[in-house]
Amino acid sequence: MGAERHLMMCVDSNDAESLFECTVAGCGRRLVFDHVGARTVVLDRGLSNAPHHGSTGLVGLSGGVD
Ligand SMILES: [Zn+2]
Repeated sequence: MGAERHLMMCVDSNDAESLFECTVAGCGRRLVFDHVGARTVVLDRGLSNAPHHGSTGLVGLSGGVD
């Protein structure tokens, strides 16, 4: 019954922001991590009931990313 974990990959970034996309087909979750404000901005919610985590060591995106 455990929810499938979705891995989000950093696909683009600059000094201020990084764009993450979910790697699971059919999900489509995308978000921007704001390095300056240390916050995330969700662009597309995707399958928002699935736990998402980030793939880079730069930012500690955890299951609670919303
Ligand atoms: Zn996903």
